[in-house]
Amino acid sequence: MPAAALAASPTDDQCLEVVWRTLFSADGSPAQCPVCGDRRHFSRVRRRRASACSTCGHHVYPAAGTFLANSSLPLRTWSRAAGFVTGCGDEPGVQDLAVQLGVSYRTALRLRRRIQQAREEGGRDARLVASLAALCPAGNARMTLRLPRRAAAGPLPRHATRSVPPPARR
Ligand SMILES: [Zn+2]
Repeated sequence: MPAAALAASPTDDQCLEVVWRTLFSADGSPAQCPVCGDRRHFSRVRRRRASACSTCGHHVYPAAGTFLANSSLPLRTWSRAAGFVTGCGDEPGVQDLAVQLGVSYRTALRLRRRIQQAREEGGRDARLVASLAALCPAGNARMTLRLPRRAAAGPLPRHATRSVPPPARR
């Protein structure tokens, strides 16, 4: 991935770190372990959306029970969606969101609805939206413009990005 795209789009690890700090530990590692019943150091578990207690090994999944749970989308997509939705007021166009994120219209609709719902409900999910959006503000969320998958008529070149609308199809 080109360096510019990396700067524009956070990694899933960065997003998970933001979720962890927002919900469990503002200063990073020490957090309340539900098993030990005390503040412990936690370290990230590879290839899982989890952190493990250094004392008892208990795994905490920071995104569990939030609007991010039960989603197969990468956390970075949620982060970019949050940046886009919060940066554009409450009514960003679904089609525009789909193009910006490189997802289908249906997925964009679901992302926008869940993010707006989280903001309206307030509390934990609203704080998560704000934190993820801060990681990926609308300006950055816009930087890598991909065609939505369903609009792709043929194979796209790798890292296909466009800064101008595609030519009209005949
Ligand atoms: Zn523990």
